[in-house]
Amino acid sequence: MEHALIETYGCTLNQADSDMIEGILRQSGVHTERGTYSKEANADYVIINTCTVKKPTEQKILDRIQKMSGKGDRLIVTGCMASANPDRIRKAAPKARIISINNVPEMLPKMLNGNPDTGMHAYKRIDRSKFIFNPMGVIARIPISDGCLSSCSFCETKFARGPLNSFSEELILKAVSNAVSNGAKEIELASQDTGAYGADKKTDIAYLVSKAADINGNFRIRIGMLNPEHLHKYIDRLIECYKSAKVYKFLHLPVQSGSDSVLKEMKRNYSADEFTAYVREMREKIPGISIATDMIVGYPTESEEDFEQSIALLKGIRPSVTNVSKFWERPNAAAKKSGRLSNATIKGRSIRMARLAKAIQYEDLALAVGSKERICITESNSKSNIGRDGLYRNIAVKGNEELGSEIDVRITGNSSVCLLAEKCS
Ligand code: SF4
Repeated sequence: MEHALIETYGCTLNQADSDMIEGILRQSGVHTERGTYSKEANADYVIINTCTVKKPTEQKILDRIQKMSGKGDRLIVTGCMASANPDRIRKAAPKARIISINNVPEMLPKMLNGNPDTGMHAYKRIDRSKFIFNPMGVIARIPISDGCLSSCSFCETKFARGPLNSFSEELILKAVSNAVSNGAKEIELASQDTGAYGADKKTDIAYLVSKAADINGNFRIRIGMLNPEHLHKYIDRLIECYKSAKVYKFLHLPVQSGSDSVLKEMKRNYSADEFTAYVREMREKIPGISIATDMIVGYPTESEEDFEQSIALLKGIRPSVTNVSKFWERPNAAAKKSGRLSNATIKGRSIRMARLAKAIQYEDLALAVGSKERICITESNSKSNIGRDGLYRNIAVKGNEELGSEIDVRITGNSSVCLLAEKCS
């Protein structure tokens, strides 16, 4: 039996795509392994599922592809870089097969049967919900769409995934139901922008989540990253969804900047005040909801004053989680033409904002110390377990609990990224 190693970089949607790749390989009788490094020696195939969001990550992946180039055409590269910047891959590994993710279901089985095809075909719109594969597990990643409706000026993903392509609601709901009957306790709905879901199919994320929450079973749904520009279309119905015990009280709403002039330059179609109003409304109607956001620091047109507005927004909103990223010019993204601030300026600002974000997260989690929570164990190793409570908070508890089991814990401490707990006796 041949053996394939799957290495995945990037977001939940990329992880879900690697689940699909794993399913196709297994159906072709290939033994699969997920992971990175040190396992490639005895792999017949190495599949690298790439990300192209940040320059440092891209360079790390290209170094890895170069290191694997000795595998020749048994090195298969897919994911966002394969669609957005195939030439960079070709340079790192001339014989590698490069396939855009939507060509994987058709091309990969052919390649495994010795088809010499090099792979890279035109981007094809397919409904990947037909190929959802759920390895028996507590966490099921369900891809719901490809692409988005926006054209954010810093974004390379747009050139990899193209315009919005929402997958079939019926097949997604069937996949959720299958995953739950296979033992999944956490359903992660994944896409570039769950907020745009269904705009090309007369439905939306609120309709999808409300139907998914009606599926029988003991599980919770995590709604993936949602661009705030779409929230006004269905916020009332989405709030109703969050009232369901089957939906994590967790909303990932990337704001990217606290300055309206920078948001305009980024082509983000909302204002800082609108973002703040959405967060306030969600907190008012879903008390305790965890708000996660993303911030880009050092956008080419970001003045000192703009940066201070982003800092002020964070101090005002106090998100439970803030992912702070430095601005990176990307090969196809429009912002590349806007010049670049000095590395020192970008570095200084990102250090300051990361420190603030960490302090806010620490203070937010510290409020839970002493409380009792019911958690579901979603990750486990010999020493400790990670569980999630209804607010999707990371809770570490010693012992060796069964994956998927639910236990009552007392919160005994915290860091800036997780709560520490002991099992209630
Ligand atoms: S919403 Fe913006 S940042 Fe997100 S994938 Fe689309 S263009 Fe990129």
